[in-house]
Amino acid sequence: MEALTTGPRDQRRCHVLGVPVDACRDVTAAAIGLHAEAGGQIVTLNAEMTMLARRNADLGAVIRAADLVVPDGAGVVWALARQGIMVQRSPGIELAWSLLKYAEAHGWRVALVGASPEVMERLSDRLAQQSPALQLVFVEHGYQDAGVWPELEARLRRLSPDLVLVALGVPLQEIWIQRMRDRLPGLWMGVGGSFDVWSGLKQRAPGWASRLQIEWLYRLLQDPKRWKRYLALPQFAWSVLRHGERQR
Ligand code: UDP
Repeated sequence: MEALTTGPRDQRRCHVLGVPVDACRDVTAAAIGLHAEAGGQIVTLNAEMTMLARRNADLGAVIRAADLVVPDGAGVVWALARQGIMVQRSPGIELAWSLLKYAEAHGWRVALVGASPEVMERLSDRLAQQSPALQLVFVEHGYQDAGVWPELEARLRRLSPDLVLVALGVPLQEIWIQRMRDRLPGLWMGVGGSFDVWSGLKQRAPGWASRLQIEWLYRLLQDPKRWKRYLALPQFAWSVLRHGERQR
């Protein structure tokens, strides 16, 4: 096993099944470093998304162009370990929360985009109570009529926040961020179901499920409609066992 050596930005680009992922000692530090430079797009990669990126050329291109790709899932960490690269799993929901806390402490201007109107209403109330110093400059749910988006997007661009968290689901959120960000500064990150959890309307898998690496099963039981998505997991494991060590 090799020790993890990274570049000045605490980040070393590796690959799992040809999809990029960055090894970092501290993902929050890497993200804050990115903000201090010119900003960028953060992607949180898990096994399901890795398989989708191999099929979906648009998502694959977005991940290759992303500035920081975080190993969000246990499968990605395992695949890297098979190449001798030891990294810690960095759940996107935890990185996003750390960045929100950092934003509150350092006066960053924050935008939240996506999730249902009910989730966004509850989340805004919670944040106003728990994080009164947080500068929320833009909060919009993700079920707007098609005709409303251009105005929302123009407003968001003009605001040019320090941190934009986007919950529109994979791969829409990643593709939308790339189009929106263009040359804007700030950190832009897709956060999937994080707002649902932060609002209190959904439960995150408990620690024991995460330690047993069956967080996916917990999510499946909460939302059985997701079953098709999990067919990607055995395909991922099989591909890594067959080709993983050659995918550096
Ligand atoms: N979502 C949305 N608009 C849509 C589709 C989805 O705002 O048109 C939201 C949805 O309400 C949820 C998030 O996107 O809050 C995606 O959650 P999911 O658990 O599916 O995330 P993923 O597993 O795709 O990362």
